[in-house]
Amino acid sequence: MMRARWWMLCLAAVTTLSWDVSTQEGGFPVTLIAPGKGPFTFPPGYQTPWEKIEIAVIEKMSPNLFVLHGSQGLDPAHPDASGGRVMVLFGPDGVLMVDTQNRQVAEKTLKAIRSFTDAPIKVLVNTHIHSDHTGANAFFAKQGALIFAQDNLRSEMVRPVRRANVQAPPPPDPVGVPVVTYRYSAAAPGEPGVTLTMNGETVDFIPMMPSHTAGDTIVRFRNANVIYIEDFYRNFGYPFADQANGGSIKGMLDAVDLIQKLADDKTTLVPGHGTLVSKRDLLPYRAMLVDVMAKVKRLRDQGKSLQEVLAANLTAPYDATTLGDTQQSKDRFITEAYDEVKDFPPIVDGKRTMPLRP
Ligand SMILES: [Zn+2]
Repeated sequence: MMRARWWMLCLAAVTTLSWDVSTQEGGFPVTLIAPGKGPFTFPPGYQTPWEKIEIAVIEKMSPNLFVLHGSQGLDPAHPDASGGRVMVLFGPDGVLMVDTQNRQVAEKTLKAIRSFTDAPIKVLVNTHIHSDHTGANAFFAKQGALIFAQDNLRSEMVRPVRRANVQAPPPPDPVGVPVVTYRYSAAAPGEPGVTLTMNGETVDFIPMMPSHTAGDTIVRFRNANVIYIEDFYRNFGYPFADQANGGSIKGMLDAVDLIQKLADDKTTLVPGHGTLVSKRDLLPYRAMLVDVMAKVKRLRDQGKSLQEVLAANLTAPYDATTLGDTQQSKDRFITEAYDEVKDFPPIVDGKRTMPLRP
């Protein structure tokens, strides 16, 4: 208890200090709380203690564009910082949110927003289907948000995929399902599906090719020169292409390439998790994807089983420079590559019928 209070006092001090610095120098972005680096371990059977997770402003991208995230060391899905980042643009035209965090912390997410603005919640855009990004959709729709997303995301939400060893998810609260949808066009990659002008910003919702999922959207704030690039890139743990929801490693390569065209050298890229980056930081990640895919393909072409390919430890050259390089994270990545290099199922209704493995 004492420790928690001490931590909150420090947090308050850091917040005040950084705000002073940023207003004096006008330099953005300002990082108030960096994600944890780990290593993090959790005992068998550990369950996330949602009541302990704090949602705080962790970055300021401009005077009215803030980023929220959860505390480190508590959530095994994202031990570096619980849940997915939420971006909040605020001002006289109301609040625009990018993603909604986990359902279990909805009240805390709203409270964090209310610590800096009383403006009504107007617009919400989802970057992808995962529950750490859409979990509190219904809660924020009830606050007044109109929800935007790719059409594929809507399909993924209304008709969820089946996964091995995971209970079928409950049907979604219809209130939290996106109502304004748009599609990715292979003829015009990078073209916004929606452009909004509010609070002195011009905000583009840019539908992505199937990459992390088949329903990805990146969100560009033109004046702040910031792009929320969601989860096709990560710098904590190995890459995750959610193939069952239409993602692919090949698509993540295409996503990285598109960012090289959309961003300039000064654009701040905001991943769904991990640290803020710029476009050149994506290149070693891209090279790793290409290298590992080629090695997996060679082994699979030789007739190796998945178990044999996992045992080959193909991520070894990258472990020293990859935070959160758990065995589970490595195995998931190599399994994705194995499934993708041969007999990769097509996307139907935003999803793929992937092999169900325990
Ligand atoms: Zn995420």
